[in-house]
Amino acid sequence: MNKTMIYADHAATTALSPTAYEAMLPWLQDKYGNPSTLYSLARDPRKALAHSREMIAAAINADASEIFFTSGGTEADNWALKGTAFQYERGKGIITSAIEHHAILNSCAALERMGYPIATLPVDSEGVVDSDALKSSPMSDAVLVSVMLANNEIGTIEPVAELAQIAHQAGVLFHTDAVQAIGHIPVDVKTLHVDMLSASAHKFNGPKGAGFLYVRNGVNLIPLLDGGGQERGMRAGTENVAHIVGMAAALQEHMEHLAQEIKYLNKLSGRLIDQLKQYGLEFRINGSHDRTPGSLSLSFKAVDGEMLLHRLDLMGTAVATGSACNSKDAVLSHVIRAISVPKEYAHGTIRVTLGMDNTSEHVDRIAQQITSILH
Ligand code: PLP
Repeated sequence: MNKTMIYADHAATTALSPTAYEAMLPWLQDKYGNPSTLYSLARDPRKALAHSREMIAAAINADASEIFFTSGGTEADNWALKGTAFQYERGKGIITSAIEHHAILNSCAALERMGYPIATLPVDSEGVVDSDALKSSPMSDAVLVSVMLANNEIGTIEPVAELAQIAHQAGVLFHTDAVQAIGHIPVDVKTLHVDMLSASAHKFNGPKGAGFLYVRNGVNLIPLLDGGGQERGMRAGTENVAHIVGMAAALQEHMEHLAQEIKYLNKLSGRLIDQLKQYGLEFRINGSHDRTPGSLSLSFKAVDGEMLLHRLDLMGTAVATGSACNSKDAVLSHVIRAISVPKEYAHGTIRVTLGMDNTSEHVDRIAQQITSILH
């Protein structure tokens, strides 16, 4: 990346950390053995997989036997939902929320087409899933509740522990998509009471195309990929050793500095808000107070978010919008719609997600750039 550019879209992806890169190199070069084979060249990759599994398990207070490597968050989400539903007759359903990532929403849509009904829980104006809505939803035919731990557009952290306990009281399993949370806030599968949890390496400075699904011991899940016996027969396909090692190294690095990172990112996002206010811009901050550190979904009054994104891009700053461009019409994202952002603000939504490579100087420049575009 050009050194003068400001990257402020860390919820989309993050740069590979130098530590993860270094950790990956041997497995891309000399140590290329297939971990499933029997000769000595396979021994080291096999050990590296086992060690990575232990490191990842430790980061979320799980047991290594509960971690299954995948190609990323999308695969982990698909697997949790379909691998649960396919054990049952059609007619058994899944309960999810209105603001999930499309990896969940489109998995649900596919299941619905196959005859597994889907119920969607509403959220309040801060994007918090209402636990009363779950309590009152009929769960007799549900086999799984899936609610994300942190939202990718507005950063809202969901009351997963409470929701999981409600599901369990009705005898229903609980999955959480923790892709935006892992490596950024403390995640403990025991205190969250979750049965399954999805994660993706490239959201915490690991490589793209690697992730994992935590499956609590005792939970029945069927494999989605048929083939060899990798991942204890649960996920066929030769393991992506280098990427898995990189993922574990990147996660461990975040866990070692988590408290400082949270403090630093909250300070940076607070500074951005203060500056935008000082410049007298009319905007609202979407999401709850309890958001992932460094994430800001901002809606500016009577502004076109898409225009703002492109103008910022021309100035060297990368942010996201709260809308997806559909030919001529800028269509509001399902999240911005679900939290009912007032119309005059909704189309002026951008998502600024700061990371550890951002500085106060970056934040000051972003505030100045937005102000110069909007004044
Ligand atoms: N879930 C959430 C909340 C996400 O933000 C993303 C990525 O944007 C995914 C799932 C998909 O993860 P991946 O890119 O690893 O497939």
